[in-house]
Amino acid sequence: THFGYQEVPVDEKVKRVADVFHSVAGKYDLMNDLMSGGIHRLWKRLTIEQSGARAGMQVLDIAGGTGDLTRKFSRLVGPSGKVVLADINDSMLKVGRDKLINAGAAGNIEYVQANAECLPFADNTFDIITIAFGLRNVTDKDAALRSMQRVLKPGGKLMVLEFSKTDNPLLTKAYDFYSFNILPQMGKLIADDAESYRYLAESIRMHPDQETLKQMMNDAGFVGCRYQNMTGGVVALHTGIKP
Ligand code: SAM
Repeated sequence: THFGYQEVPVDEKVKRVADVFHSVAGKYDLMNDLMSGGIHRLWKRLTIEQSGARAGMQVLDIAGGTGDLTRKFSRLVGPSGKVVLADINDSMLKVGRDKLINAGAAGNIEYVQANAECLPFADNTFDIITIAFGLRNVTDKDAALRSMQRVLKPGGKLMVLEFSKTDNPLLTKAYDFYSFNILPQMGKLIADDAESYRYLAESIRMHPDQETLKQMMNDAGFVGCRYQNMTGGVVALHTGIKP
């Protein structure tokens, strides 16, 4: 345990994740900007730049939430391509769909309620799969990685953008203080929901570090797995290819 956090039973984790995202859906974008000081936009832009997305491609944005990546992909793949915004949580999916429609995003987006652990798509469907700040919420991460491997086309790329482990002890201290003190207080002030934001901080703490996740991707059948730290390892972008 860390900071009083107890590993919770599986069913309870699923329920807790659902409660958190039903609760934060309406204020999710605002909180994202506030809590990251807007840096999440940079992390996402770097991800898109390295995706190699081109006109005509099929992209899956799993745990896509309010659709930041989906929106960018939608422009890149154009009318001959397709982006599937998939999320397990219908509240997040609804906020995402409304936002994208209001923004006039192209008609090349599909919305699907799905669990990353058992994706409802045929084998070898997608050129690119992204999961941004989503994998840490998934209960069976190995099953999710295998499922993503299955629905990728051979040669297709998985990109996992997720909070990770900082390498510098001072930065780690500052970051812990921020996550466990400031962040829940912001959650309370702005969304009247300290509990959800405490969960988010705890889930970041529990998530596998860079090397562990890289090994998990290898084990799920990806090749050429590597990662790139951003912001001193606060976030890491892992990529792997389906052989
Ligand atoms: N990708 C978006 C972004 O970067 O802004 C949203 C990230 S949000 C922190 C995490 C999302 O993961 C939530 O929308 C949640 O509903 C979704 N999620 C959690 N568990 C999931 C699962 N097992 N399968 C699919 N989505 C899941």
